Amino acid sequence: MPEIKQKLLRAIPKVDECLTWLADKGVAAADASIEAAAPQFLLKKAVRQNLAKRRAAILAGELTDSADLRKEAVISDIIKALRQMMTPNFRTVINATGVVVHTNMGRSLLPAEAVNNLKKVGAHYANLEFDLATGKRGSRYSLVEEILCDLTGAEAALVVNNNAAAVFISLSVLAKGREVIVSRGQLVEIGGSFRIPDVMARSGARLVEVGATNRTHLRDYEDAIRQDTALLLKVHTSNYRLIGFTAEVPVTELTSLGSKYNIPVMEDLGSGCLVDLSRFGLPREPTVKEVLAGGVDVVTFSGDKLLGGPQAGLILGKKAVIDKIKADPLNRVLRIDKFTLAALESILRLYYDEERAIREIPTLAMLSAAPAVIRKRAQRLLRRIKAKVTGYANLSLTASESRVGGGSLPEYGLPTWTMTILPLKMTVNALEKSLRSLDTPVIGRIENEHFLLDLRTVADADIPALATCLIQGIKLSGDREQGAGDVECP
Ligand SMILES: *Cc1c(COP(=O)(O)O)cnc(C)c1O
Repeated sequence: MPEIKQKLLRAIPKVDECLTWLADKGVAAADASIEAAAPQFLLKKAVRQNLAKRRAAILAGELTDSADLRKEAVISDIIKALRQMMTPNFRTVINATGVVVHTNMGRSLLPAEAVNNLKKVGAHYANLEFDLATGKRGSRYSLVEEILCDLTGAEAALVVNNNAAAVFISLSVLAKGREVIVSRGQLVEIGGSFRIPDVMARSGARLVEVGATNRTHLRDYEDAIRQDTALLLKVHTSNYRLIGFTAEVPVTELTSLGSKYNIPVMEDLGSGCLVDLSRFGLPREPTVKEVLAGGVDVVTFSGDKLLGGPQAGLILGKKAVIDKIKADPLNRVLRIDKFTLAALESILRLYYDEERAIREIPTLAMLSAAPAVIRKRAQRLLRRIKAKVTGYANLSLTASESRVGGGSLPEYGLPTWTMTILPLKMTVNALEKSLRSLDTPVIGRIENEHFLLDLRTVADADIPALATCLIQGIKLSGDREQGAGDVECP
């Protein structure tokens, strides 16, 4: 090995030496609060990783200047790494994509009441499975069952981990080892590897496809009914739309057929809304109540899509069928936790007063927000930042379209207003990265070399924070593309 490399390797500080430097309050460029708050484990990890990185750089011939091994350089690097290690991995972001039910960002936001309820049950014991009337063991979903029945007209209900689980347990309990008839046009993939044929296979039920991709008729179902038929399944094709020459059997015809042959009918509704969204100008989606009134035996849907609650899978329907599902051991495997239950009860209670639900449940409030309201919000944001980013970016307000998200109403665009940013000192990709790297990341979208922030999915209360983040993100990335992560946003 060349003399110079050996000399550099010998000049690498020792771990203990670095720890002493870090403990020394006078360290140049050091952020005293970081080292004081950092657990010893992370301090040592940051030091070791940093020294190993320097050793590798020397061996690779990338580090050739002994100044890079001096106290100031080493400590400043370690503190930067430490700062990253101390930042929570799971943190809040500002969703300015305009996608309301954004699966990658946690789908639905909870209203204040639900959040308060989460705090309470998090810090206290609760009657999760304890029947206060009898003093005996109770069941957790019984705490929301009556509310669900009131709101939808169902005879009985239970709640499991998510809608995928709801579909799985229903198929397994009602049709294991037997046949389930489904229209070819409804064999959908939801994403995240949830495909109706695959879930069906894992549940032990045998899939019998009927009809053609675009058209299925009642006689197709009837012709396929055999001794072994356990269930007629309808899947609401919430995430894609068949258009053109199409035919689907209405649920009431399917339930009549089911009664004729004494075969239960199940509908996987997916998004599952309790209010009619057409009053906000959205396309009409069947409500849970309507589906049940159509006579289906079981309906399943998500808790965190159009319902606007926590992740959960709701199973509602006729008592005899729901009782069978409740009694199955899989129900224990897929059970919800106390936080889900706390949030879900709060959300469901809001639905007793539909107007209140629309005002207070964020998912519904965002979906029903009028373009004029969103425009005002965008103007507020513009006023806060325009003068402060002069020379760094051109800003304007543009009419655009938001998406419902969560695989619901995929082709429908909600009219909205966006703030459009044209960066002047960097590429739009650099700006996108800079905003994504902030302590409170700001997520928007790029369109035609502009960065777009859709204000539909930003709460009024978050506008000041968003303004601060944008000013810092826009200016920092203009001055130096690295280091945007150092910015502290509120
Ligand atoms: C979203 C969806 C599911 C899966 O629900 P999760 O709550 O995400 O598990 C199943 N079926 C349909 C039709 C859906 O839209």
